[in-house]
Amino acid sequence: MKKTILSTVVAAGMAVAGIAAPTAHAAQEFISIGTGGVTGVYYPTGGAICRLVNKNRKEHGIRCSAESTGGSIYNINTIRAGELEFGVAQSDWQYHAYNGTSKFEDQGKFENLRAVFSVHPEPVTVIASDSSGIATLTDVKGKRLNIGNPGSGTRGTWDVIEEALGWERSDLKLAAEMKSAETGQAVCDGKIDAYFWLVGHPSALTQESLATCDAHLVNVEGAAIDKLVADNAYYRTASIPAGMYNNEADIKTFGVGATFVTSSDVSEEAVYVVVKAVFDNFDDFKKLHPAFANLTESEMITDSLSAPLHRGAIKYYKERGWM
Ligand code: GLU
Repeated sequence: MKKTILSTVVAAGMAVAGIAAPTAHAAQEFISIGTGGVTGVYYPTGGAICRLVNKNRKEHGIRCSAESTGGSIYNINTIRAGELEFGVAQSDWQYHAYNGTSKFEDQGKFENLRAVFSVHPEPVTVIASDSSGIATLTDVKGKRLNIGNPGSGTRGTWDVIEEALGWERSDLKLAAEMKSAETGQAVCDGKIDAYFWLVGHPSALTQESLATCDAHLVNVEGAAIDKLVADNAYYRTASIPAGMYNNEADIKTFGVGATFVTSSDVSEEAVYVVVKAVFDNFDDFKKLHPAFANLTESEMITDSLSAPLHRGAIKYYKERGWM
């Protein structure tokens, strides 16, 4: 966490001069939250958290900013490098980072990774153009699919699904690696047949693609998916309800949870301030994005969390009598 040099110097100068500093928090602390593409749900999630933190920044001295990033895996790695204090990350990648498995095997366990709370569910979502002829997941074979930019949780989970299906990368006619914000236009323009991502619903990009192009959602089911869900605790079956977009029926799929993570190197106070800002203003928080509509406090502090909770979060949850 960076302190502004100027305010620290001013406070020190005042102390030397025998003048009391205005508050105990005269030095500002900056915290950054790594999110995802600007048309996703992570970016407004980071924005919602920062808005509530910054509301009381005069009292606690912490200024929060949300950054658009490549997504889950980038956020976890950048927290590990000490360059971000917080990040939003899919629960499957939180699990693998903490345990040093899958894509994190080479780096080894990120033992200082800490969970703060979980947020919205993220179903695996496939949006295909009507002209692509894609009706089910297996129809994607031989087509042009956006599999997600490197660093996104989306991309990591595509790699897992591909292996579960027994496909090679060459089974796709094109495996595009665009950032999420570019994919909607690419489907509309016929540059790709479909895009794949894990995202909360409703999401602005999914809404825009389905409202402005001839496109539809695709069911993600079958024996390979059933096995993935049965074998891995961080996956669940999921559905996108009928009528949420242009879908007349429920879309059957599976998914993960979006989670909010940090490092044990981040101070107890910073994490406490963030958690307090969200849960002291929980009704306001839920109104900041429609994907938050069904969140409950009790699920958020237990579901989809595989890294240990940060001590600053535990302090607040105990104060509220939730632990
Ligand atoms: N789950 C996506 C990822 O980690 C991000 C979704 C979003 O931006 O809301 O790649």
